[in-house]
Order: sequence, then structure tokens, then C-alpha cells
Amino acid sequence: MSTEKIPLMEAFYTIQGEGTFQGTPAYFIRLAGCDVGCHWCDVKESWDASKYHETGVDEIVLQAMKYPSRHAVITGGEPLLYNLGPLTGHLRKSGFKTHLETSGAYPLTGYWDWVCLSPKKFKPPVGENFEFANELKIIIYNKSDFAWAEKHVRHVGPDCNLYLQPEWGKMGKMIDEIVKYVKSHPRWKVSLQVHKFMNIP
Ligand code: SF4
Repeated sequence: MSTEKIPLMEAFYTIQGEGTFQGTPAYFIRLAGCDVGCHWCDVKESWDASKYHETGVDEIVLQAMKYPSRHAVITGGEPLLYNLGPLTGHLRKSGFKTHLETSGAYPLTGYWDWVCLSPKKFKPPVGENFEFANELKIIIYNKSDFAWAEKHVRHVGPDCNLYLQPEWGKMGKMIDEIVKYVKSHPRWKVSLQVHKFMNIP
């Protein structure tokens, strides 16, 4: 696969709704392709990369530069299916801070200012990715996910931000549990998908 072109599902300028940079305007670059298989995934249409065009990284960056923010979020799908060196290198040369949203299921490539690692039970991260995580975000779908979250803490660095985020469809059922858990385990914080409350992408 060419490293200068990658299958782009969509790109859009919006507000980062989750985690440490919640509320920050950012250009989102959603790459197509994912084999992790989360049954609750809200972007299942991203899974099959063959449905999307391979797009030149220069064209992607050109589009990003039309907007005033210089925060770029690379998401998916699972972006680490691809060599992200050319895209992130080009973004940085153009003045962007590069942020990654990944399950960590494949080895890290690219040049990053911020890595959000969100491990999934269905295809766990490769070990070395934990050391690159600036932020660990665990999606809480049911009560057993608190123990799953704790399993990962020992692998990340001491400065890594820790977030518990309710799966959107389980928000009503799990939010009380999450609040209770964070109050008694204060290294964790609550992350909510505030872009969904604002009805923006
Ligand atoms: Fe969906 Fe992300 Fe899970 Fe892939 S890793 S199935 S894109 S939630």
C-alpha cells in the first residue's frame, strides 16, 4: 500500500467532544478500515476500507488548512492500519498539532503531539503502544469494564490522563456507576461525548 495515499472516509471541522481536549476546535480526519469489531461501534460504515477512495496526504492537508484551528485529530476506523508517517509529517510541517485516536491494535507510526489510546476487548493493543499514551480512554459498556480499565493502568506512564467514558447507548444505565467509581478512584476522570449532546459530528 502506498504510504502517500490513504483511504479517507471523511474529514470535517468540528469540536473535539471527548477527553483532555474536549471543547477544542479541531479538524478531524477519519480513515477507513477497522478489523477490531466492537459490537457497539457507532461508525461501522468505516470498517470496509475498499468502499473509500485512497486520498493523497497533500490533498488531505490542503483541505485541513482551510480552517483556522491547527489541531488535527486522526481517527477511524483504526488509523494504525496505515503508515501515518507521511500524513502526520505533512500536517506538522504545515503547523498542525497531531492528535491520534486509536485502539492501539497495531504498532504506532507517525509523529504525534497527543496519543489517545482506547483499548478494546475485541482486539487488545500491542504492548509498546501503552508507553506512548498521553490519555487512556476506556469505554464503559457494562460493570465488568471497570476491572478491564484497571488492568491497563499499570502499563501507562504516571502522567497519562485516565478517562472512563460511557458507551453512548448505555449512558443512562452506566453513568451513575461511573460517577460512583470515579469518586472512589480519583485518578480517573469522567469523559462524555459532548459533541453528541451538541448534535455536531
Ligand atoms: Fe469501531 Fe473504533 Fe471499535 Fe473499530 S475500534 S470497531 S472503529 S469503535
